[in-house]
Amino acid sequence: MNASSRPASARATTDHGPRTGVFGGTFNPIHLGHLRAAEEVRQALSLDRVLFVPSRIPPHKHTDPDDPIADSARRLRWVERAIAGHPDFSVDRVEIEREGPSFLVDTLATIRGRDGTGTAPPPVFIVGQDAFAEMGDWRAPERIFALADLAVMTRPPGHLRHLADRLPAIVRDDYDIAADGRAALHRSAGTRIDLVPITPLDISSSRVREECRAGRSIRYLVPESVRAEIEESRCYAARPAARAHG
Ligand code: ATP
Repeated sequence: MNASSRPASARATTDHGPRTGVFGGTFNPIHLGHLRAAEEVRQALSLDRVLFVPSRIPPHKHTDPDDPIADSARRLRWVERAIAGHPDFSVDRVEIEREGPSFLVDTLATIRGRDGTGTAPPPVFIVGQDAFAEMGDWRAPERIFALADLAVMTRPPGHLRHLADRLPAIVRDDYDIAADGRAALHRSAGTRIDLVPITPLDISSSRVREECRAGRSIRYLVPESVRAEIEESRCYAARPAARAHG
């Protein structure tokens, strides 16, 4: 079967059940870039719902005492507040409740395991183009790509135009890539990958934490429903300089 550039939503006619997007992240903290991206992917692929999956212990981020990861209960609460009111967004605690590092392969296996009939379409893992390129180094990449469809968000500048440019080498031979490079179909698992262009919003969690450390405003970088709580928690405030002894 050849990969077609039809969006993954087109396949919904042969699958049964809702199409679920899985938006994983550290969300340290959640910001408007995350929310807008999830909304645009939801619309582009006609997803029925998007699960935000905050990680408990992100395996791919280094820990730095001067740039800490807020505790998972806080990050979870902020995601819940940020998406409250969106009828198709919800939070999934699967990673927060699982001990140890939050490996995506375990999360996707759990989400697929909830489908008792085995007829639901695979979940659609939503990922930025940079993280996508690194997925070959994640735990059990072959299983990840067989368990889920992928929506790879592309945004200018440095817009990814052809999947072959970033598809991890370890799964390259598993896929047929459409001639225009915008979609790929897994030869045995039937899962697919789609490039989904989104509006670039130059916001990152690092930037939000940096503003907090500098004592500056984070208004309009994060949803207003969580701004005060993030600021008042002071969890991203600069650490007091070590007191000199002697
Ligand atoms: P940090 O700055 O701490 O690295 P981050 O802002 O990239 O964090 P994550 O929680 O690590 O946030 O990201 C979760 C997902 O959201 C990733 O797939 C990432 O590519 C995507 N993402 C982050 N910021 C944006 C943005 N401004 N627009 C679109 N997607 C984004």
